[in-house]
Parts: sequence; structure tokens; C-alpha cells
Amino acid sequence: MISPVPILSDDALHFLQQTIGAEFVSVNASDRAYHARDQSFHRAHLPAAVVFPETTAHVSAILKYANAHLIPVTAWGAGTSIEGNPIPIAGGIVMDFLRMDKILQVYDADFQVDVQPGIKYKDMNAKLAQHGLFYPPDPGANASIGGMIANNAAGTRTPGYGATKDNVLRLEVVLANGDVIHTGTRAVKTSSGYDLVHLFVGSEGTLGIVTAATLKLYPLPEHFSAVVASFETIAGATRAVSAIMGAGLGPVALEFLDPVTARNLNTTGEFKLPEAPTLLLEFHSATPHAIEHELALAQELCNDNGCTFFETGVGRAERDRLWKMRHSTYEVLVRNHPSISFLVCDVAAPVSKYPELVAECEREIRALSLPGASMVGHAGDGNLHPLVPYLPDDEASHARAVQALGNMVRVALRLGGTATGEHGVGLGKIQFMPEEHGASLELMRTIKRTLDPHGILNPGKMF
Ligand SMILES: Cc1cc2nc3c(=O)[nH]c(=O)nc-3n(C[C@H](O)[C@H](O)[C@H](O)COP(=O)(O)OP(=O)(O)OC[C@H]3O[C@@H](n4cnc5c(N)ncnc54)[C@H](O)[C@@H]3O)c2cc1C
Repeated sequence: MISPVPILSDDALHFLQQTIGAEFVSVNASDRAYHARDQSFHRAHLPAAVVFPETTAHVSAILKYANAHLIPVTAWGAGTSIEGNPIPIAGGIVMDFLRMDKILQVYDADFQVDVQPGIKYKDMNAKLAQHGLFYPPDPGANASIGGMIANNAAGTRTPGYGATKDNVLRLEVVLANGDVIHTGTRAVKTSSGYDLVHLFVGSEGTLGIVTAATLKLYPLPEHFSAVVASFETIAGATRAVSAIMGAGLGPVALEFLDPVTARNLNTTGEFKLPEAPTLLLEFHSATPHAIEHELALAQELCNDNGCTFFETGVGRAERDRLWKMRHSTYEVLVRNHPSISFLVCDVAAPVSKYPELVAECEREIRALSLPGASMVGHAGDGNLHPLVPYLPDDEASHARAVQALGNMVRVALRLGGTATGEHGVGLGKIQFMPEEHGASLELMRTIKRTLDPHGILNPGKMF
């Protein structure tokens, strides 16, 4: 790995100030501390400096210099990662895209948008609503598009619209040596050449830095219905997930909450959920008739699996409150358990194996015998987030939580799944890479060496 760079030389600072303006290069303690950690439990590392580029030319010039002088560069979007992805563990430069936050062009007739990487997806969607369009991937936090592309983020709407990887058409990327490349096309299909767009999506800023992207958009839905369904048992709820997806029903969202999560969310006063294993579903359609048909079938499949409560027709305002509340799961859990810390696990398995994944993960978290142990998941795409409790400042308790998390990852891998459905590898999942990827990990290393021979881009991640 590249040697750590805890401080920058005067020459380097002078170069950065000359290139992007002195007021956009910071070495002050608060800027460095703010960019030293994400939302995870991983240890903070201070960068030597934080820069705020405004143009692709700025990014290119900085990378060219850093590459020549072996200075680590870590891109920064909103810092909402939960696996340590943007922590600058080798110091050097953190490149924050705060100033590159514009919508460049909306293509109304093609349902596409060109954006800079620093724009936050919620802010972007608020602007796109004026065009009757939206970008569906929705991680709970207000993440940046650059960070979402780098982590291949997903969210509640993935069953209907896919993850980030399914919604990126074109990228402008600055390589480690400062070269600028454009890859992909605005045509929705292409068979031309290696698929470099998808090489960069999910690469966590280790292969290149994204300075612009063309994203797929969708019309805001005309007709929709949100559903709350509760079950006697967790096994029943998760079997219903497999049944609904296996029947080819097309919910755009299908979320699983265990009873502890439902109880926690009820403390927000936003919505009254049954405190039982629960599924939240949403259907979109061009006609009310199509939705009614899907709801009837979904209810039948839920009833077959011990459904005790099925509420359809949640109106627009209530539905917005429901999803807002769902997105606050982690904050509410932490708020309600001030003496407990949590590891956020992120595993995924084929949806037919979801009942087994959930059952085994439940056994692991219950064995910890701590309050707040709970599970929530983007069930429609086989993704589960066990929230694993431990006592802060208690090494043995933390070690037990880490052990439980490892056991859950191994369950997911055994079921044909993955160590991370959407949060990325960061620092937290590096240890599982050999088990998940086997010999192809060496090919990934070769790609990294080819694109970033000096290892300046987000060092210490992925491998
Ligand atoms: C409460 C909460 C809920 C969450 N829920 C979800 C969820 O449902 N689904 C989900 O997927 N995630 C979720 N996350 C995790 C997080 O929001 C996502 O991983 C998100 O993609 C991170 O984006 P960011 O802008 O914060 O990126 P950062 O954390 O700043 O960076 C993420 C990675 O992207 C790299 N990067 C940033 N910008 C660029 C760029 N321009 N070019 C190249 N690399 C770049 C960084 O170096 C880093 O490796 C949640 C987080 C929180 C705190």
C-alpha cells in the first residue's frame, strides 16, 4: 500500500491553492475532523487536507499532481457510508464534491439527466419533480450521487426500479493519472465494448473519480398503493416475501420489519404499525385496475402465510409518512437505546432463501441477549440489515457482535448470497472478499494495478 501522508508539504499546498483557489483548500482542524470518519463504527483517520474542486479540470490537475507525488486521494460525497468507505486511512487529500452539485441537463423526452457527483439525490429529486420525473434509488440518508455510484447504493424501491448500477448510463471519470474519460451512451442499450460504466459503479473511488453521470429517470407514478401487512410469525412474513416475488407480482417496494423494529418506529408517533412481523409494500401502475388486481393477489399470498392484518389504500400523505418513518429506523433505534451501540449488518441472498437467511440471523442476534437487537430489510431483493447490539467501551461485547456479524455473512454466502447488498466493502467487509470472490479477486487486483498503479485512490479499501 502507498505510504501514509499525514501532512502535505508546502509545495503541495501551494500547488493546490494555485490550482483551485486558496479558500477551497482547507487544513483547518474542523474540516479535517469532519472528513475523518463516516457513519460507521470504524476508527477515524485525519486527512492532511480537504479540497473542494469546482470543475473536472480541477479534479484532473489535482490527481495528476497527487499521482506524480504519491499522495493518497479519497473522494467524499456526503460521508453517510456505513462500512468506512470514505475514511482516508492513509491521510493525504480528501476531495469533497460539495461545489460540484449541479443538474447539467434534463432530457425530458428520454427520461434522463446529466448531473455532477456532489448533488444529493433528495435535492435532485425535488428539482426533477418539476419535470414530472424522479430517480428511484433511495438510500435512507441524503447521499450524493457520486457516493451512490461509488457504493452502488440501493434502497426501498430496488424491487421495482433496480439499484444504482441499473440506472447509470454514462460516466465522466478522472483516472488516477489525471486523464479524463467518457464511457457509456445515452442509448438505453449498447453492446459496444467492455462495460466500463459498470466497472466504475461500485468501485468505491478506488479506480477513478466520477465527475459527471447520466442517470435514468422515471415518470412520477400516476397510481400507487402502499400496503401494511402483519403476520403471526417471522417465518410467515418471510415466506410471504418469497411467495410474492416468486409469483411475479411487481411491488416497487417490499420491506420487512421485525416486531422490535415496528415497536421502535411506533415511538415516532408518525404511523401506528402492528407490533408484529410486518411487510410494507408499494405498487405503482398506469391504471387503478392493474393495482387492484395486484393487491388482491398479494393479499391472498399473505393470507396463505399467516397474515393477521392487511391494510391497503394507504393514501399519498400517509404513504410519505410511512416511508419517512421507515428511513428513520436506525436513528430511532439509537435514540431509544442510548446505552447500546449497534453494528449495521448488510447481507443479501436469493429471495427464495430469504426465510432461511432471516431465521439464522435472528438466532445470531438473539444470542447476544442485549436490548435493541432487531432486523429490517429490503426483503424484495433479498437484502437484510440485522442491527447488532453491543455495549460501548466493552471490548468483549464488541468482539461478540463482530463475531455474530461474521457468522451472518457466512450464512448469506452459504445461501448463494453476498457479504454486502448495498453498503459496499469499505473497511468492514474486506475480510470476506476472498471467501466471496475466490480466484476472481486476483483479477480485481490486476484491474486496480492497471488503473491506479501507485495505489493513490482511496488506499486500503476493497483488498
Ligand atoms: C441512516 C442511514 C441509512 C442508510 N440506508 C441505506 C440504504 O437503504 N441503502 C444504501 O445503499 N445505503 C444506505 N446507507 C449508506 C449510504 O447512504 C450509502 O452508502 C451512500 O451511497 C453513501 O453516499 P455518500 O454520498 O454519503 O458517499 P460517501 O460516504 O461520502 O462516500 C462513499 C464512497 O464513495 C466514494 N466517492 C464519493 N464521491 C465519489 C466520486 N465523485 N467519485 C468516486 N468515488 C466517490 C468515496 O470515496 C467512498 O468510497 C445509509 C446510511 C445511513 C447513515
